[in-house]
Amino acid sequence: MLIHIQNLVEDSGCYAVMRQLRWPEGVHCPHCQSAEIAKRGFHSQQPARQRYQCHGC
Ligand SMILES: [Zn+2]
Repeated sequence: MLIHIQNLVEDSGCYAVMRQLRWPEGVHCPHCQSAEIAKRGFHSQQPARQRYQCHGC
């Protein structure tokens, strides 16, 4: 089976896995480490990519 890396990168499931790896205890703000964040739509060029808005910053 041939795996296309681009498909893996763009697949929304892959983003979920990456989030799990990066923030195993939930998503935190990269600036203030706050867990008080809200989902803020999706990336304009990458619809599978969730964007977040921090309440602390
Ligand atoms: Zn923050």
